[in-house]
Amino acid sequence: MTAPRVLVAGGGIGGLAAAVALRRAGASVTVHERAAELRSAQSGHGLVLWHNAVLALRELGLEPELRKIGYELHRHRFRDRRGRTLADWSMARMAERFDAPVYSVSRPRLHALLAEEIGDDLVLGSRLTGFAADRDGVTVTFGPGREERADLLVGADGLRSAVRAGLLAHEPPPRYAGFTAFQGVIWLPGSGVPEHTFLSTWGRGRWFVCYRLDDEHVYWDGVLGDGVTVPIGVDPRTMLAREFDGWPDPIPALIAATGPGDLVPVPVFDRPPLARWSHGRVTLLGDAAHPMTFNLGQGAGQAIEDAVVLAQELGAATASGQAGVAESLAGYEARRVDRAARMVRRSRFNGELTRWRHPLAVAARDAFMRATFDRLIYRKTYELTMAVDFVGR
Ligand SMILES: Cc1cc2nc3c(=O)[nH]c(=O)nc-3n(C[C@H](O)[C@H](O)[C@H](O)COP(=O)(O)OP(=O)(O)OC[C@H]3O[C@@H](n4cnc5c(N)ncnc54)[C@H](O)[C@@H]3O)c2cc1C
Repeated sequence: MTAPRVLVAGGGIGGLAAAVALRRAGASVTVHERAAELRSAQSGHGLVLWHNAVLALRELGLEPELRKIGYELHRHRFRDRRGRTLADWSMARMAERFDAPVYSVSRPRLHALLAEEIGDDLVLGSRLTGFAADRDGVTVTFGPGREERADLLVGADGLRSAVRAGLLAHEPPPRYAGFTAFQGVIWLPGSGVPEHTFLSTWGRGRWFVCYRLDDEHVYWDGVLGDGVTVPIGVDPRTMLAREFDGWPDPIPALIAATGPGDLVPVPVFDRPPLARWSHGRVTLLGDAAHPMTFNLGQGAGQAIEDAVVLAQELGAATASGQAGVAESLAGYEARRVDRAARMVRRSRFNGELTRWRHPLAVAARDAFMRATFDRLIYRKTYELTMAVDFVGR
């Protein structure tokens, strides 16, 4: 079989990682991104790449570069809104167990790293508007009169994927998870954010997360539940300062230190898991396939895992010469659909816990976390999340 020709719609983390992986597997790949420049604000400034995501980037040969732009996290500390510890978990210990550390990373820097690998095969300002698949290939339309032919189309075009809409014509829109994340990145050397620590503070119907991105920058998000909107004319920082008034350090200082234009509100959505991602020579990847809330910090990690597994399956089919694109997509789904569905469900469940408002329910939740978190909740979630199947294949 000659090298398969692959078109990827979407130059987010998933699409770019897919292109890197597929190229390494021998495919010829072009990524079409609708944005005129690689921007990243729409779904978060900072990102945590857990052990599984780091292992996936290792498969792509990118770990040395990741080490340069990432900041190692060694500890995951949960507090209640009075600052009392609910759980304190050693990520450093888990790094030994899972053979990879956890990094926080600036999303634009990760994008830039992946985009550099793709070079001229990333076409910006190119929006997929339609596709038609047949027995031998797929014809993809990018704007008026621009068509390309390929063996495979990968829809990595995010939450409101046009490729997914083309496959599932009558699907309802994504479901709102009931909360909005207000994200800030600030330059704050010597801020009160402890070194190498993921600090998560839970209250009633709201929570606050912060961690360092490097020695000088801190990422934070303050998450507000149902019905919280920023009234017209009100500076969102004023509203956040009020909503998190009296919360423990360094939360008030982080909000106060954030510039007026540096705060990005992101309403959070997901979709119920799909049983199939592929039809003929078209498949989905990343948020297009399995959008999830960010309560496990796994959206990007799962997208990178998709990329690695898709490339392994396509590479194996190409190398054997016995199987084609359709067979490789069956292999991709067999390895990915259930795992991603579990992440979607667990993320949603965790998100629901953070929305609780009733004082008794919150007290019970916090007591439960204090008593069982280490032994039960986190350990189980960790085992589920880190159980990757692509290493050494
Ligand atoms: C607040 C917040 C915090 C998060 N934190 C984490 C975290 O800590 N760890 C983690 O792993 N995940 C996290 N996530 C999830 C993560 O951001 C996403 O899961 C991940 O970015 C998905 O990548 P993607 O490439 O699949 O989709 P996207 O990033 O949405 O990329 C899709 C791309 O496709 C392009 N596009 C759309 N339509 C078209 C079209 N028709 N033609 C061409 N291009 C198109 C878009 O412009 C976009 O660039 C977080 C999300 C949020 C909202």
